[in-house]
Amino acid sequence: MTASRHYVTTTIPYVNSRPHLGFALELVQADTLARHWRRRGSEVRLLSGTDDNSLKNVLAAEAEGVDVRVLVDRNADAFAALSAPLDLSLDDFIRTSSDPRHRVGVERLWRRCAAAGDLYRKEYEGLYCVGCEQFYTPGELVGGRCAEHGTEPRRVAEENWFFRLSRHADRLHRLVSDGVLRVEPAVRRNEVLALIESGLHDFSVSRSQARARGWGIPVPDDPGQVVYVWWDALGNYVTSLGYGTDEAAYGRWWAGDGRRVHLAGKGVVRFHAVYWPAILLSAGLPLPTDVLVHDYLTVGGRKISKSGPDTVDPVALTDAYGTDAVRWWLLRDVPRVGTPTSPRNG
Ligand SMILES: [Zn+2]
Repeated sequence: MTASRHYVTTTIPYVNSRPHLGFALELVQADTLARHWRRRGSEVRLLSGTDDNSLKNVLAAEAEGVDVRVLVDRNADAFAALSAPLDLSLDDFIRTSSDPRHRVGVERLWRRCAAAGDLYRKEYEGLYCVGCEQFYTPGELVGGRCAEHGTEPRRVAEENWFFRLSRHADRLHRLVSDGVLRVEPAVRRNEVLALIESGLHDFSVSRSQARARGWGIPVPDDPGQVVYVWWDALGNYVTSLGYGTDEAAYGRWWAGDGRRVHLAGKGVVRFHAVYWPAILLSAGLPLPTDVLVHDYLTVGGRKISKSGPDTVDPVALTDAYGTDAVRWWLLRDVPRVGTPTSPRNG
């Protein structure tokens, strides 16, 4: 039976450069699902946006010699402008650095988790991949390099806020294995279960203002620290609905009995199917009902990325072949189920 309400989201990309075709795949998948459910009579809300607060954006601006605000605004506009050439039926588009709804909601989420006793300060030293915006243990690296980016992570030592992920492991495992939190396809669900079974460690959820170059959302009551960009970014799924600013809209789309569906690429499964649900459990909020994971678009076996040599401009492609042809090709020829991902997820 079709639920009466479907909230569908894409991930929000970093805006360190212009959009590439790989992200267009996710946009078109999400748009197609949203259109399908609308035609079946559901109320649907389709959200996309941009992750403005990444350190990656700051480093890109430094490399280009422009102010980070200038770079972020320019590239975010290019992402928002995909809507017309890809014929997206977006209901909302959130930008995490400039949307007044966002910061309020992120701060509230933080305070809820703090009140639950799940945030604490700790001296920490680790290996950080700026490309992934995440710490790795040496065992998760391949030849000392990030499996996703092929780059050597930086050694970072500072005092950070940590989130008690470990506390939520058992509950999370049950929710995923029971299908209350549905992770599809099965190969990805099994990866998530294996990751939880391997032992979940508390993770760093802030960085110093110095390392963040003063860019991002300050930690509530601790302005020397900036909220970890993934915490900030994942929060968009509820802040865009009005979590902390518009309880009626939030209640309608997130706290009601409809489906809450996240689309995400295979490289960010742990964030969507482990970290985010754990943060929500801690805050006492409902979880997403579905995390639908797609593979990457590849050229000659390599992932298409914004910064790689194989970047393809989706707008140029629709100019050349037309919107429907590009949409059809993305949906028809790109497999949704593929090979297992890098060792860090398995
Ligand atoms: Zn990486």
